[in-house]
Amino acid sequence: MKIGIIGTGYVGLPTGVGLAELGNNVICIDSNKEKIESLNSGKITLYEDGLEELFIKNQKNGRLKFTTSMKEGVESADVIIIAVGTPPHPVTKEADMQYIYAAATELAKHLRGYTVIATKSTVPVGTGDEIEQLIKENNPTADFDVISLPEFLREGFAVRDFFNPDRIIIGADSPKALEIIKKLYKPFESKTNILCVKRRSSETIKYASNAFLAIKIHYINEMADFCEKTGADITEVARGMGLDNRIGSKFLNPGPGYGGSCFPKDTMAMAKMAEKYNVEMTLINAAIEGNQNRKKEMAKRILTATEDIKNPKIAVLGLAFKDGTDDCRKSPAMDIVCNLIQSGADITAYDPKAMANAYELVGDKIKYADNMYDCLKNADILTILTEWSEFKTLDLKKASKLMRHKVIIDCRNLIDKKSALKNGFIYRGIGKKIPKKILKEKIK
Ligand code: NAD
Repeated sequence: MKIGIIGTGYVGLPTGVGLAELGNNVICIDSNKEKIESLNSGKITLYEDGLEELFIKNQKNGRLKFTTSMKEGVESADVIIIAVGTPPHPVTKEADMQYIYAAATELAKHLRGYTVIATKSTVPVGTGDEIEQLIKENNPTADFDVISLPEFLREGFAVRDFFNPDRIIIGADSPKALEIIKKLYKPFESKTNILCVKRRSSETIKYASNAFLAIKIHYINEMADFCEKTGADITEVARGMGLDNRIGSKFLNPGPGYGGSCFPKDTMAMAKMAEKYNVEMTLINAAIEGNQNRKKEMAKRILTATEDIKNPKIAVLGLAFKDGTDDCRKSPAMDIVCNLIQSGADITAYDPKAMANAYELVGDKIKYADNMYDCLKNADILTILTEWSEFKTLDLKKASKLMRHKVIIDCRNLIDKKSALKNGFIYRGIGKKIPKKILKEKIK
């Protein structure tokens, strides 16, 4: 099939590469000239495990092309996938639809013959109707259908998730469009659930899913706080809960709060949407507020541990919003780092993949180390903010020799507490009982 993909970001690019790998002819369109130049010169623009290899392969065999020209990407396509951003509107906090509207308006002019327009971007319920309207206004004779095709890939696992999705949701009110999209996803038919629903249901499924996961994270974080006060251990509690099939073991890792380009904006957009329809979303609103507070609380936790040290040096391991990605958008780690910066902290950070993106956000306000051990040199406190497995391999004996004071605030429960204590560290994890007083006295 001939596919045009609008937007070559964290969703558009892996989708384009994946569909090309399945044998389709894909043209990826992006308005960002530099991105397209880079992609055309064979240089990938984002990090995802296993993506580069497939990108190079399919570009070489001619099934994957990149352009800034909407005309080139749209006029010959059977299916056009919209994968542009829907960031939060800076004022209203609703999904900012300007990129969707611009893409729909622009693509309309170049439609030739029957075309399916599939919205992969996360969009408010009713957006399919709006796109349809915009296309009709800009090209009254166009022959097309608009469907919703929400994306559920996880950053860091985009390639794996593309080829092994938990489910494919197709929101189509047109049988003709549905048949075409089913054909496109035929390779997945035997290995995953393909659920065909109304367009508005599909748009809602995406927000309902992300909001649910955000609430689950917020819930386990609150349970972690409870464990800290009561002497229970959140790791044990989460394991016990997760054995219940009705609950499931995923998304029960406590941490510094949820982040990334999706959960914060999607929970907010869902809450705003519900407000519009006069529906109360108490759980989502509680998760939004609790998650904001959590990041502040984590920064406070780190600062409290350095309170009695003159000019404390903080080593930060992890800047990406999660492991496996270079994405720092709405990263809890970055929020915490910004909070620490505001308090005048002297920070050196290391992240295996996200340092360039972190630099875009905080520039020279922090120092950047080439590896974990350089990051720890003369530090008073080490904090772990992203769950990179590399950090689990930290040689604590070596680390203890490099640091001035030996304190670990582990916001991801990555470090083995026993081993930390054996090497002379004061260790504070998440959801574990901590004698705070001892912590402060020892630092002195
Ligand atoms: P992104 O910001 O990484 O990429 C969007 C791309 O679209 C950019 O390269 C931008 O230049 C391009 N673009 C914007 N307007 C354009 C236009 N008119 N014409 C051509 N190109 C245009 O965004 P993303 O993270 O890939 O997210 C895209 C959508 O997918 C969002 O709605 C998001 O909520 C949703 N989503 C994201 C993820 C994720 O893990 N990132 C997962 C599921 C769904």
